[in-house]
Amino acid sequence: MDETQREIPEGGLFIRDGFIEQICPTKELPETADEVLDLRGCLLLPGLVNTHHHFYQTLTRAVPAAQDANLFHWLKTLYPIWARMTPEDIFISTQTALAEMALSGCTTASDHLYLFPNGARLDDEIAAAQETGVRLQASRGSMSLGESKGGLPPDSVVDSENTILEDSQRLIQRYHDTKAGARVQIVLAPCSPFSVTGELMKQSAKLAREYGVHLHTHLAETEDEEQFCLQKFGYRPVPYMQSVDWVGEDVWFAHAVYVNNEEVKTFAKQGCGVAHCPTSNMRLASGIAPVKEYLKAGVKVGLGVDGSASNDSSHMLAEVRQAMLLSRLREGITGFSLSDDPTRKLMTAREALRLATRGGAAVVGRSDIGSLEVGKCADFFAIKLNRLDYAGALHDPVAASVFCHPVRVDYTVVGGKFVVRDGKLVTVDETKLVDRHNRAARRLLESK
Ligand SMILES: [Zn+2]
Repeated sequence: MDETQREIPEGGLFIRDGFIEQICPTKELPETADEVLDLRGCLLLPGLVNTHHHFYQTLTRAVPAAQDANLFHWLKTLYPIWARMTPEDIFISTQTALAEMALSGCTTASDHLYLFPNGARLDDEIAAAQETGVRLQASRGSMSLGESKGGLPPDSVVDSENTILEDSQRLIQRYHDTKAGARVQIVLAPCSPFSVTGELMKQSAKLAREYGVHLHTHLAETEDEEQFCLQKFGYRPVPYMQSVDWVGEDVWFAHAVYVNNEEVKTFAKQGCGVAHCPTSNMRLASGIAPVKEYLKAGVKVGLGVDGSASNDSSHMLAEVRQAMLLSRLREGITGFSLSDDPTRKLMTAREALRLATRGGAAVVGRSDIGSLEVGKCADFFAIKLNRLDYAGALHDPVAASVFCHPVRVDYTVVGGKFVVRDGKLVTVDETKLVDRHNRAARRLLESK
């Protein structure tokens, strides 16, 4: 995933102190090292970057009452259940989501936590993530516009704007690391147009820019949201963002499905990024984001699995596959024909992988990850190729990792440290975690 999209047969890496020092044919590497990992017969790729998630939703996957609903109904069903979460639930669900992410090749995950019930704090998520070893872009989410003020969420899950801003500042000061190889960075992330006020959007942008942290929110996800913005603010979602100073290189939006040509140009001109979440958009019948148009216009695009209540998985390689397939479906629906225009091409496996690596790194504003190059973080994953899932596809192992059924990876390394080794998590006990997680999920659904 370097500038030239180089692929190295029989290639290898030499890593020191968490960064890549050499990347070349193995025979040119130093003869010895403190540790030598023999990956013959494996495909090795840069670690994937997830640009949008809600880890806590792993506790509410496949909830019967929310299985077949669209976004607003789905949210209204789940808000009261989420309001029962405890700090321990945040901790457990973070580990579950990051375990899944690591087992699917992800080395950096962005998470958007916007409910803080019963004393829960972003600190609970950060502590859990640090134990797993996956890099975290921790988004301090927020909701301040409850039902009584015309918002969507019940008043019981919204906070005062002062509390939100004070906590945001505390978190930046405590955790935000600007150095290359940072394990934790903070992002400010009011939840969505229908759950926060314009004033909180403005104040969050001002605070983020004082400290140089990124801004993130949901935008233009559904037609309902577009109607809400027009009625409540008198703007379509993208112009509404412009009216509250939410455009720039430091801003990325989740979904961005309902945009017109002018708005695509605005994103490109202002440098706004997009977290494309194909599975969630299909699950909630939201729509199909114009990813090809974004890329053509020069908009930064990354991939996100989105929260696990609308996916219901945190499998990053699966998301790469969905992105490729959904882009192709959109081409078909909008009248793609090679005979009309031979320059038009379907999204390739490599383009989809590029979204999940370099694309994601650009979206979250990190130049130290997203590709395997000298000086970048030693973040990668490897898959053994000799397996049933890839049988018959070894003419092109890179494409096999996207076209064939998504697999559990065999190795995931973050900053030179193993998170997955020989197909097993090394930083958390998977069996115990699943047991703890299921108990927490059952308690959430049963308690009233
Ligand atoms: Zn989301």
